[in-house]
Parts: sequence; structure tokens; C-alpha cells
Amino acid sequence: MVVKFDVVNPYAVAVAQFDAAAELMELPQGMRAILRQPKRELTVNFPVRMDNGKVKMFTGFRIQHNTNRGPTKGGLRFTPTISLDEIRALAMWMTWKCAVVDIPFGGAKGGVICDPRQMSLGELERMTRGYASEIAQFIGPNSDIPAPDVNTNPQIMSWIMDTYSTQKGYDVPAVITGKPLSIGGSKGRLQATARGVQATIREALLDLELIPELCSVVIQGFGNVGSAAAFLLSELGCKIVGLSNIHGGVYNPSGIDVAAALDYASIHESLTGLPETESVTNSELLELPCTVLVPAALENQIIRCNATRIKARLIVEAANGPTTPEADLILDERNVTVVPDILANAGGVTVSYFEWVQDLQHFFWSEQEVNKRLETIMGDSYRAVREKAQEYNVNLRMGAYLLAIARVVEPMRARGMGL
Ligand code: NAD
Repeated sequence: MVVKFDVVNPYAVAVAQFDAAAELMELPQGMRAILRQPKRELTVNFPVRMDNGKVKMFTGFRIQHNTNRGPTKGGLRFTPTISLDEIRALAMWMTWKCAVVDIPFGGAKGGVICDPRQMSLGELERMTRGYASEIAQFIGPNSDIPAPDVNTNPQIMSWIMDTYSTQKGYDVPAVITGKPLSIGGSKGRLQATARGVQATIREALLDLELIPELCSVVIQGFGNVGSAAAFLLSELGCKIVGLSNIHGGVYNPSGIDVAAALDYASIHESLTGLPETESVTNSELLELPCTVLVPAALENQIIRCNATRIKARLIVEAANGPTTPEADLILDERNVTVVPDILANAGGVTVSYFEWVQDLQHFFWSEQEVNKRLETIMGDSYRAVREKAQEYNVNLRMGAYLLAIARVVEPMRARGMGL
């Protein structure tokens, strides 16, 4: 894969990755043109009454990338910095992710420009319901099914489901996933992304002939995904030596007690000051000595400048888009294995698919059944990606792209788009 610059616009990264794979598989130009862009983009501006009585305008997005494998699926993020290009990239990655794990969805993504940490619960609810009303015509159980992502959670999914259902006049649980169990959520959904990360780490360590009990792990991001991954990787036998959230990180080469870290962060917000650890910045954290590095925060964390200094043997991308294409090249040269986001963090959308199926059938599964099916899909997908990578003599990211693009193109051809 030849990419010359350290591209930091996530959409440019997503397109560069797609272009490299499309070139390798000699995809017809017409197909490339369709897949390089999202199919539909919606921007909404809407008013919210704030606690001080004043009205504030908010801007939200929902983007659907491709619908040829089924309805679109993808999370919602509430952050001050989101942009159309970020959502475009994330929607495109969702298309490939759903195809890698072979579930019948295309990709979508959405969100609102806001800082939930600066809002009261009432303001957050009114804003969420306002956004849900605005996108209600664009989403639906047969067309586009949102889910949680950065700064969104089961409570926010409930408000969206309730607002949508109120508009329809009856309950529509299958319009959104990641809901609480009491309104049609799935058992196992909260930990699903992290459980998928655990499953891919287990497979990758086997390939590298490494034993979990002898591996140290550093995790950047201690939210939904990062904190659950820390618990599940400890369960696997790994030693967690570094953790961080937006406020900074902590390090202890002898191991960190994950439950104590979670308690500490819930009281202090920051992990800094956690007993028996030394403080590190988020950039120092990425360069700590460890066997496995798990970026579980945001895009563009592993870039040209730090890729040469990363000491991990294995990087497993729990976050979406944490590695730039130029960093990828450096890591390849340094023989660092990268399990790409579109495979590593696909556990979340896989159990979201299970939730949607259960909601449509009104028939709910045990947690054991959810986890068993998830682990089968993650293991099978990892091996399918590895085989594709071996067939073309490329890295796992390119293997995942080749597998996913072929699976998206097949129904396009069947529908007559033989471009
Ligand atoms: P979250 O909001 O629950 O947690 C994000 C964490 O990252 C928080 O601990 C936050 O403090 C930290 N963070 C934010 N900015 C940071 C920075 N600059 N440096 C270090 N840490 C920072 O979000 P999440 O749901 O855990 O999502 C994390 C990543 O995983 C995102 O890239 C998301 O797209 C991806 N992902 C999430 C899911 C899911 O099911 N939630 C599924 C697939 C992929």
C-alpha cells in the first residue's frame, strides 16, 4: 500500500485505505466511484431549550454509506469536534466492518456537535429527542439502525427509541440498538465490542505464538470499550500495565488493578493519582513497553511521529481509525502486527445485529448464547481475514479490506451494477 503523507482527515484516510485495496483487487472504476462516497447525507440544525431558559441551536448529522447488503447500521457520537468528514469516514468503515463479520448491513454513522459533559441531564435529553425527531424520517428498523458510540449510552438510545416510537404511535424497539434490557436490549451488548477485542487478541496471540499470561497490555481510552476490554483481557490472563482517559494515563509495569482503576475514575474522572501507578501523558502511554497496545479512544492516535517509537508487538484497534496510513507503513516495516478496527471492534455491531434480530422476533436469547455466537463469528472472521492476507501477501488491514470489499461488490453485481 503506497500512501505518501500522514493523512489526518479521517475521510481521506478511509478513502486512501479503500483505494489501495481497490487497486490490488483491480476493482472496476465504476464500482470504485460508487463506494468512495456515502450514498446519503443528512445535516440537521435544531433548537433546544437550555436550563437557563434560552434557546440554543445544535447541528447533527446522519450519513448512510452503502445499502447493498441490507439496512445501514452505525453508532452516534456526541462530541464538540465531530465533522461531516469524520462521520463520512466512520460510515464507510461501518460498511466494511459489517461485511468482514458477514452480517446483513451496510454502514452508517451520525452524531451531534455538543459537549455532553457541559450539559445537564435534562438538556441532554431534550437535545437527544430533538435530534431524534429531526432524523426520524431517515432511520427505521428496515432502513437505518443507530447504536451507541463515543459519549452516547443506553439511556440516550432509550430516548431515541421512545421519540421514534411516539412519532409512529407504537413501540419500535428494532429502530436502535444498545438499549437497556427492559426495552428490548440484548444481553451481552454492553461488553460486546470488548469481547470481540478479546477474541481477536486471543487469535492473534496464537498466531504470534505468545501466551496471554506472559503478555502485558496498554489501553488508551477507559470508556465503554476500553474499560470492558481491560476487565476481559485481565480475565484472559494478560497483565494490564497502562490505562488512560481524556485526562491522562497511568502506568505500573507490575500490573494495575482494573476494578480499583474503574472505582477511582468514577470518583475523580481522571485516572491520574491512582495509587501504585505513575502518571503518563496520553502520547507517552502509546510508547510504553508492552506486548499488546489497544487504542480504544479516537482516530489519529498512532501517526508517523510516534509509530517508530511504539514498543508493542501487537496493536489491536478497538477504536475506529486510530492509525494513519503512513504509520501503518512504518509499523509494517517494523514487523508490528496490527489487527485493524474493521475486524477488531466488530463485536459491537455483531451483537447489535443480534439485538435487532431479537427485537424483530420478540424472542430473546441468554447471555451465554449471545457470547457463544459472538465468539464464533469473531474467530471465523479473524481467520478469514488472515487467509485473505496470506493469499495476497499483505497485512491484516489490507486482508480485511479485500474480504469486505469483495462481499459488498458481490450483491452490487447481483443487482445489475456490473460497472
Ligand atoms: P466512550 O465515550 O465510552 O469512551 C471514550 C474514552 O476515550 C473515554 O475514556 C475518554 O476519556 C477517552 N478519550 C477521549 N479522547 C481521548 C484522548 N484524546 N486521549 C485519550 N483518551 C481519550 O467511547 P467508546 O464507546 O468506548 O468508544 C471508543 C472507541 O471505540 C471509538 O473510536 C468508537 O468509535 C469505537 N467503537 C465503539 C463501539 C461501541 O460499542 N461503543 C463499537 C465499535 C467501535
